[in-house]
Parts: sequence; C-alpha cells; structure tokens
Amino acid sequence: MNPGNPTVYLVIPCYNEEEALPETVRRLTDKLHAMEAAGLANEKSRMLLVDDGSKDGTWELISRLNQDNPYVEGVKLAHNRGHQNALLCGLMTAMESCDCAISLDADLQDDVDALDQFVAKYKEGCDVVYGVRNKRDTDTWFKRTTAEGFYKVMKLLGVDVVFNHADYRLMSRRALEGLSEYREVNLFLRGMVPLIGYRSDYVYYDRHERIAGESKYPLKKMIALALDGISSFSVKPLKLISNFGIIVSVLSVFGLLYALISYFAGWAVSGWTAIVCSIWLLGGLQMLCLGVVGGYIGKIYSEVKARPRYRVEEHLTKEKKQG
Ligand code: UDP
Ligand code: MG
Repeated sequence: MNPGNPTVYLVIPCYNEEEALPETVRRLTDKLHAMEAAGLANEKSRMLLVDDGSKDGTWELISRLNQDNPYVEGVKLAHNRGHQNALLCGLMTAMESCDCAISLDADLQDDVDALDQFVAKYKEGCDVVYGVRNKRDTDTWFKRTTAEGFYKVMKLLGVDVVFNHADYRLMSRRALEGLSEYREVNLFLRGMVPLIGYRSDYVYYDRHERIAGESKYPLKKMIALALDGISSFSVKPLKLISNFGIIVSVLSVFGLLYALISYFAGWAVSGWTAIVCSIWLLGGLQMLCLGVVGGYIGKIYSEVKARPRYRVEEHLTKEKKQG
C-alpha cells in the first residue's frame, strides 16, 4: 500500500445526467483540489465518468469536460447496461491507474464532504470503506420502508450486506483486483464486496436531495436489483421449499387420519377420502422432491459462478538461514 498521498479515482456512472453533471464536476473538481492541498490525494487523482449508454448529451458533455478540465476522464459504454455494470466498468478501468477508487452517484446525493474521511481510513490501512447513511429523511416513506425491508430480508437469508450502504464506497487497488476475480454476470456489487475480505470500516454521512434531473432508478429497476441481490447470493429459498415440503408431508399424516376417521364414521361422501389423502400426501412429496432437485441446482449454481475460493491477505515468510 502506498504510504504517501494516494492516487484517488472518483468513479461516477452517468445515465442521462446532462442536467446534473456540470454542477457535479464543478464540485468534485473543487473537492479534488482541496484534497490535494490537504495531502489526501496526489496530483494524479482524477474523476472517471462512465457514460452508461445515455440517450441525451451526456457523452458530448463528458468529452468537452475532458478537454477543459484536467481532472476529468471518461469511458463510454456502447449501450445502457445498468448502474451496476457501468460502475464495475469504471472500477476496473480505474484499477489500472489508481491506489484507491471511490464510487459515487452523478447526482451528488452522497455527501462529497465525506470523501476526506474515506481517504483518511484508507491511509489508516483499510482496503474497503463503506459509506453508510445516517438517516433517510430525504427519501420518500415508500423508498425508505422498501429499502430498509430489503436489507432485513437479505440478512434473514444469510447474505452479508452492510445495512443502509448503497454504492458509495472506497476500494483499494488490491480490493479491486479481488473484485476482478468474481466472474459473475448478475452483478450485485454491495453483496460481492464484503466477500472479498480485507480490513474494512464505515463512514457515516447524510444523504442529500438529487442536485438536478430525475431518478434513473424507477421501482422496476429497484425490484430487479433486489431480486438479483437475493438470487445471486442465497440458496435459502431452495432450502425453504424442502422444509415446506417436509412440513406438508408430516401434516398430510394428520389429514390422512382425519380422512380415515371421517370415512369410518360415515361422515364422508364416497370418493372424498381417497382424493383428499392423495392431494395432501402427493403435494407434500412433490414439494420435497422439488427441494431435493433445488438442492442440486443450488450446487450447480455455485459451481457455475466459480467464485474465488480464498484470498491471501498477508504472507509472512522467513529468509532461509545460509549454511
Ligand atoms: N445510472 C446508470 N445507469 C442506469 C441507471 C442509473 O449509470 O441505468 C446511474 C445514475 O446516472 C446515477 C446512479 O446510477 O449516477 C444512481 O442513479 P439514481 O441517482 O437515479 O438512483 P437513486 O438515487 O434515485 O436511487
Ligand atoms: Mg440518486
């Protein structure tokens, strides 16, 4: 790790952000300037704007800024691949030149003043620093409730996500190299980063209103991201099917008893007993079988992901004594 002033890259995915970008770039330019003066970043630090296949003038704006502003670099994706893919592209591009990269949104909802604390933690030796929202009072009631509910469900399903952390985070170069080994296609970065390991810490910040333009994350995209998060990180839903199947099978024994008693007591219409018994028993058995099949699919799924199995954080060696 570089003990001097690090080369910091600010990675910003942009989708139709021509309204917000000029102000964002102005503020981040001042910030990088101040960070250089404060000894938190060196003169090679940059902001990397990733145009996620925007349909407005975002890319023209980025090209112009790249010519006029010494801090601005740009990458253009050939089509709109979504926030997570655009962010990964930015991080992987920044990895080539940076000591650490900080991802943030183009609308400056993430507090720019927190950047100092991110780098300070990096200098203390953290490889990953998660930005965590203090409160969500700038979000609507609906967004707040669904988002917080989502983090709780993820925890219940055994996925290691940081509560109230979106994608405002710092990653050191070696954490980025770690991330590059995850070959999965369905990206859910805030679930993948904790898997990398290494020393990490948190920075708390207040979330602001969007500076300009509208949210590019409608409910449909949010639900897709949440489902991706669950299905890419947890096989618990498959286990739940098995468990449910076992419960129904056991209950079916009681159903069977009830049906038989009804039959012998003469309460039942003829034919009812056989139908009811088979529905219960077969229903339970089918679910159990689905669960078993699901168990194997779960295994295939983790094999196919081919995630790295381990990562060495430190390696202590000793020179062999001569003679
Ligand atoms: N974004 C992107 N591709 C998309 C949608 C969004 O790169 O398909 C970017 C967007 O430009 C912004 C960030 O992702 O920098 C977060 O989006 P937004 O602020 O609209 O989401 P919200 O804060 O409303 O959840
Ligand atoms: Mg936003």
